[in-house]
Amino acid sequence: MGEDEKQHGEVHVVVVACPTQGHLNPLLQFAKYLAHQGIHVTIPLTLANPISSSFSRNNNNFPFINLQRVSLLPYNGTEPESSMGLWGRRLASIRLHLVEFLSSCDHSVSCIVYDSMMSWILDIAKEFRVSAASFFTQSFAVNAIYYSLYKGCLDIPLGERFVCLDHGFPSFRSSDISTFLSDPIKHVTIIELMTKQFAALDDADWVFINTFDSLEPQESVWIKKQLPFISIGPMIPSIYLNGWLPKDKDYGLSLFEPNNEDSTMKWIDSQEKGSIIYVSFGSLTEAKEELMEEVAWGLKLTNRPFLWVVRESEFHKLPHNFIEDIAEKGLVVKWCSQLQVLTHKSVGCFVTHCGWNSTLEALSLGVPLVAMPQWSDQPTNAKYVEDVWKIGKRVRMEEDGLCRREEIEICINQVMEGEDCKEIRENLNKWRELAKATMEEGGTSNTNINHFVQQLFRKTA
Ligand code: UDP
Repeated sequence: MGEDEKQHGEVHVVVVACPTQGHLNPLLQFAKYLAHQGIHVTIPLTLANPISSSFSRNNNNFPFINLQRVSLLPYNGTEPESSMGLWGRRLASIRLHLVEFLSSCDHSVSCIVYDSMMSWILDIAKEFRVSAASFFTQSFAVNAIYYSLYKGCLDIPLGERFVCLDHGFPSFRSSDISTFLSDPIKHVTIIELMTKQFAALDDADWVFINTFDSLEPQESVWIKKQLPFISIGPMIPSIYLNGWLPKDKDYGLSLFEPNNEDSTMKWIDSQEKGSIIYVSFGSLTEAKEELMEEVAWGLKLTNRPFLWVVRESEFHKLPHNFIEDIAEKGLVVKWCSQLQVLTHKSVGCFVTHCGWNSTLEALSLGVPLVAMPQWSDQPTNAKYVEDVWKIGKRVRMEEDGLCRREEIEICINQVMEGEDCKEIRENLNKWRELAKATMEEGGTSNTNINHFVQQLFRKTA
């Protein structure tokens, strides 16, 4: 028996993610890195919808990861439950489950790795004398902004002002920072949630963040002077980075079922190299109907083939007759395997809302971006995409908060064939190499993960 095998199961870590796709993905990936090094991982999940999981389909890859289905607490209200209400119930169910799990003497847990947005888990970990690792799923830049707010160093709303947090940071306008901060009264609850992530962090044993130092060098130095952040990203399946596991091609668990996957991939296969526009606004964004219309006709104006992910709940916003009208030119699907699409040779650009995972994926896989940020941290990611990393173009918004179809068409053409296209591709090559380097043996993120694993084994010995 090899050294690795001997250690399997001796250290037990519970990984807790907020139950949305963008939060689950990096934490699942992190769980895989731990399991690969011989750690037994338990992941509690409260999921109302059926899930598709390659952990269960193909669990020979990860026999040391145990997905635990957590039952939702019953709903006792009489009115129909809002999505925020369901969200609260899911978190309450996880809390109850976690306490019961830790109370049971069958489980000796070495550490809880928790989504930083569920900051109350730190108190539970302390109560049960279990070490705790907070895991931030957004960039250094975004966290620097929220941290400045938390410390009382950022006046919001910005209005017409620009803000530069420190030397080395770009100047941010109101439209470059979290949408929550432009109307603090309306978004008081979510702002509280975001700033609470930093409270009591000194009590956490580790503070991880899904980014890498060479991607945000000044931002990482600035924030590390104030908080003990450890970068471990980009958390995307390993085959695209360091290749430690040849079968590790997806995150392992999807809350949405890709529809017509085979015919979608066949259609992509049939297109010319670098010709397709891939469009997705992620798992949560609810776009205005008028915006969907501009995107639809903007895509048509380009006269290029496109694959557009429009979730079931957004489907009714598509313009009347659009599907019939685009005929063979485009394909609209309700969900797809994004990583499989982004790595396909036919894909030439990605029109994205700039969710942090989508941004990291495109950057690590070398796909030019057209940024159309909608809410939350997406404007800051879009700012970096265009002005700092220079790997894409950001669609300009009009005063009414919408963008015009012609502007979408121009941005797509610019990243696919315009003057800037060559520079964008060169920059992508650079970031892609840095992303790989940090996850390879001896790279910063890889070393940080290994260090964590060694510390856990030492603590348990
Ligand atoms: N994703 C996917 N298929 C799709 C759309 C998205 O697998 O059709 C994945 C994507 O690869 C990413 C995640 O869903 O890992 C979305 O996370 P992101 O942070 O980009 O956006 P969010 O959904 O949190 O707004």
